[in-house]
Amino acid sequence: MPMMGRRALLGSAGLGVLAAPAIVRAQATAPAAAQETTQIEIDRAMPPETHRFEFGEFEVFVVKDGARPSGAPNETFGTNQTAEAVGQLLQENFLPADQFVNSFSPTLVNTGSDVVLFDTGLGQAGRAQGGGRLVEGLAAGGYTPEDVTVVVLTHMHGDHIGGLMEDGKPAFPNARYVAGQVEYDFWTDEARVGTPAENGHKGVLANVKPLAEKMTFVGDGADVVPGITGMAAFGHSPGHMIYNIESAGKRLVLTADTANHFVLSLQRPEWEVRFDMDKAAAAETRKKVFDMVATDRIAFLGYHMPFPAVGFVEKQETGYRFVPKSYQFDL
Ligand SMILES: [Zn+2]
Repeated sequence: MPMMGRRALLGSAGLGVLAAPAIVRAQATAPAAAQETTQIEIDRAMPPETHRFEFGEFEVFVVKDGARPSGAPNETFGTNQTAEAVGQLLQENFLPADQFVNSFSPTLVNTGSDVVLFDTGLGQAGRAQGGGRLVEGLAAGGYTPEDVTVVVLTHMHGDHIGGLMEDGKPAFPNARYVAGQVEYDFWTDEARVGTPAENGHKGVLANVKPLAEKMTFVGDGADVVPGITGMAAFGHSPGHMIYNIESAGKRLVLTADTANHFVLSLQRPEWEVRFDMDKAAAAETRKKVFDMVATDRIAFLGYHMPFPAVGFVEKQETGYRFVPKSYQFDL
């Protein structure tokens, strides 16, 4: 089908998810809509990307909740560098100098006795921006929201807590929750009012606080379920936590937002990142965590890494080279 036809066709379908090919064909006879179709609408005609792999005795299931293109990479990554330096590093890595894509990968770990979901994506508020597709993705893997027994929040930025509530009700009705104590205390504190963290504070009051009764607050070294242990990795946010996952001799670290771009944050871990709330602490944590991942030659899963968000790192003179997962877990 020529591109213009496809665009017009999806434009008439609006933002709704196309349920079946039959609907797509029906739309083909409708008059072309005047409205311009966005990439988001085109993407929504496809099921969200998902990826499943065996991990020891566990199953890991990664969902692409969405992706957001942005301009001006150096306004987010390398904010203390020139646009030229940031653009040059991107180009050396076969990426455009003036644009980047950020994606969101909530991840489910099925241990056999628990179904543990790490972070919840953009949720309802993110649907117009191409996000909020977590539940749709889980369904593609045969999971319902009711199946989730534990929701772990790595930290409380909007792209991680957005999917906790749906229409004001818990999106995962049977789950208990695990969250960092330091993180929860920071965001719920009234002292955030009138600061740059005020919006985040409001988001946590709306999406996290109503669930506090079912929440266990943890710190460094806390066990979530057997095989899953929390590690403090503060800096990106005040109480940012990462998780060590081990099963049958295999090991994976879920690094959450320790590094947020597979080139800019990993190859230049000291470059400042707009979303790192304590930039010096975040850079220190980045180096510590990825030194460990490189030295131990273990896999990591990073929420904003290119889908399916799993890979390895090789230590280089300045930073780390990202090596995406291939068939390591299929043998
Ligand atoms: Zn994030």
